[in-house]
Amino acid sequence: MPVQPSLPLVVANWKMNLSQAESVLLARALRRTYVADKMVTRLELVLCPSFPALAGVATALKGSGIKLGAQDVFWKTAGPYTGEVSPEVLKELGVTYVLVGHSERRQYLGETDAMVQQKVLAALAAGLTPVLCVGETYSERTSGRREIVIAQEVRTGLSGASLAAGQRVVIAYEPVWVIGSGQAVPPSEAQQASRVVRETLLELLPASELSNTAVLYGGSVDPSNITSYVQESKLQGVLVGGASLEAKRFISLLKRFI
Ligand code: PEP
Repeated sequence: MPVQPSLPLVVANWKMNLSQAESVLLARALRRTYVADKMVTRLELVLCPSFPALAGVATALKGSGIKLGAQDVFWKTAGPYTGEVSPEVLKELGVTYVLVGHSERRQYLGETDAMVQQKVLAALAAGLTPVLCVGETYSERTSGRREIVIAQEVRTGLSGASLAAGQRVVIAYEPVWVIGSGQAVPPSEAQQASRVVRETLLELLPASELSNTAVLYGGSVDPSNITSYVQESKLQGVLVGGASLEAKRFISLLKRFI
């Protein structure tokens, strides 16, 4: 069964940038505008604060239509896994989306494609929507391996995945070398990467499930370039880091949709 309707999706990744109090204040400010401008009819907004801020942000968002996401998840439901957080606990907190395989986790924490795959499967099994992050490094790009890396990360990350009725999987194409650089790739490149993702999805999922997938672009998206990714590149949305950390700037980005 396709998930309907499909509004542009904006996922905000706050990373480790905000305190609990700052996260709640930002969530409240976004909520005010989202509700006042009836943005719920124009875009789907997901906020991903750090783990300790999830509960406070969940309270701040209650009843607003803004969704709660986590920045990571572990693949076991419970047990001796020091420091990890299970899909079940995230759900208990009101989380519905979870980032999986962000390049910073791959780069700094040694997260492998195999670990990413287990996380995707665990998220789906728990009824969470995984946002699988894929993308090439600068050296992979300059050595002409961009499309191979994208396809490989999608293939491994989603290997063995199947969607329950009404369930969705999101793939975020994020060229690693532009994240946080202030220099986004041209929309045509994002569109080309999205084609590679879609072609790979065709190998992995039954045709009936393809309408339940969304492809996002992430990497230095800001209020001045957002429209080109969602309208010109025909992507289903964006993953935003730096430009989502300050209420005024993020609201001006969101207002491009209304
Ligand atoms: C990210 O880290 O997922 C991201 C897209 O960051 P930024 O928007 O700051 O490039």
